[in-house]
Amino acid sequence: MPRPISARIHLSALRHNYAVAREHASPAKVWAVVKANAYGHGLEHALTALEDADGLALVEVDGALRLRELGWTKPLFLLEGFFHTADLPLIQQHRIDVAVHCSEQITLLEQASLSSEPIQVHLKVNGGMNRLGFRPEQVAAAYTRLSALVQVRVVNLMMHFANADDEFNSRLPVAEQCRQFELAQASLGDVTLGVSLSNSAVNLLHTSIHDGWARAGIMLYGGSPSKASADSFDLRPAMTLQSELIAVQEIKAGESIGYGSRFVADKPMRIGVVACGYADGYPRHAVDGTPLLINGVRAPLVGRVSMDMITVDITDINDARVGALVTLWGQGLPIDEVAHFCGTIGYELMCAVAPRVRLIVGE
Ligand SMILES: *Cc1c(COP(=O)(O)O)cnc(C)c1O
Repeated sequence: MPRPISARIHLSALRHNYAVAREHASPAKVWAVVKANAYGHGLEHALTALEDADGLALVEVDGALRLRELGWTKPLFLLEGFFHTADLPLIQQHRIDVAVHCSEQITLLEQASLSSEPIQVHLKVNGGMNRLGFRPEQVAAAYTRLSALVQVRVVNLMMHFANADDEFNSRLPVAEQCRQFELAQASLGDVTLGVSLSNSAVNLLHTSIHDGWARAGIMLYGGSPSKASADSFDLRPAMTLQSELIAVQEIKAGESIGYGSRFVADKPMRIGVVACGYADGYPRHAVDGTPLLINGVRAPLVGRVSMDMITVDITDINDARVGALVTLWGQGLPIDEVAHFCGTIGYELMCAVAPRVRLIVGE
């Protein structure tokens, strides 16, 4: 028998959440973003749930090829484009769309010897986030170079928002990024390209932004892109990380627990030991009080997270014995709430689930 920890993947939640994204985006189409092994949920499982999606988007070239191997024939999109010229023939052969975000990529396209079957390119605008993309005043020149190539067809202008989750951000408000995007569009004169703008936060919070192809990531997996709860957006958790108690300790007042003796009991306590640690992807920086569910009842983490174990206060949960079911996050315990106690976001927790945790598919 394997160690008791597993991550249950809820295919019906993935389907439901994609439908929510589509409803918000309508009439725009929706790329289901499946990078990072579908945010830790397993690329193949995501594919099973999302077979009705308009398209799948990711950043890993090998992942894109794997999706073709698994039979995905609809649009595929590499959000950061290609990294090496050597990737281009396969990208072309398998009809994979690419973002082009820098002039070095255009140079590689110019130098590549490819057949004339065009690669669909999404030209990326840097709207002030200053990671990837051409500044608005550079967009026309990039477009001119790309449209001179027979092996390329520019189909979309895309941009990514820095602060769509934060209406009070005054450094780079959403409206300012929209203005930058409009400058880029205007610089192309009569040329009209499709538009791809929305991540989950835009999809859920900025309904006035009209998109052609939204890009939904975290919301598909039932995580919230903002401070509001996933539940308030009608999103359902697509993963439940669960394990079991493998030991119970009765401790006295004044005794401590685990490495560094971080937690000291001020009364007699019952402590449950869970088969889950940072080598499973549970964050080591989880503070005392981080919630878990023991047989469905909330209980606080106490003591430092170890590599293979965490410890939890089960003093008030009478039926918590060795073998009791423990939920780390997911159904009944929002991942965003756990992330909050760990000073991070749900995205990081789900992406960090370690390879040694079995993914079990369910509805
Ligand atoms: C990851 C990614 C997304 C999805 O973002 P979420 O916040 O998870 O919805 C959208 N667009 C691009 C370019 C991305 O890299």
